[in-house]
Amino acid sequence: MAAAVNTPTPEIGTTNQTDDGYDKKCIFCKILKGEMGTELLHNDETVSCFRDIHAGAPHHYLVVPSKHVGNCKSLGKEHVPLVEQLVETGKEILQKNDVTDLNDVRFGFHWPPFCSVTHLHLHVLAPVSQMGFMSRLIYRLNSYWFVTADQLLQRLNSMS
Ligand SMILES: [Zn+2]
Ligand SMILES: [Zn+2]
Repeated sequence: MAAAVNTPTPEIGTTNQTDDGYDKKCIFCKILKGEMGTELLHNDETVSCFRDIHAGAPHHYLVVPSKHVGNCKSLGKEHVPLVEQLVETGKEILQKNDVTDLNDVRFGFHWPPFCSVTHLHLHVLAPVSQMGFMSRLIYRLNSYWFVTADQLLQRLNSMS
């Protein structure tokens, strides 16, 4: 994959956060530190990926910034390269796991307050055609609780 360029500096948004971008109250930070025994499918200095424990589809991955970044509402235009890198990594993970039909996938974020974890995380689900009723609801297009990666990028790009 492409080398990390223009990596945005993570926001220092909470008092729990240490200088190295680790939030000791955050479950995803713990996962990334290897404290939860979760297998990391991808891990570089900018982006990491692991499986969602509540799988909503046969393939369900979470792609997250390796350093703590708050939820999508807290992002600005400067986070566009980071969000694009999350999407890129998500596509690579799908391909590595033999998901070839990229038209039958869903990439998106829960909109606050519908995020159970504040650490920014991209949901990558495939195939959409095999998602059950509840998953379709939780990861529903054009709802007020879920935005696709494209919609988020559009929103960030339109910010001044
Ligand atoms: Zn975190
Ligand atoms: Zn979520």
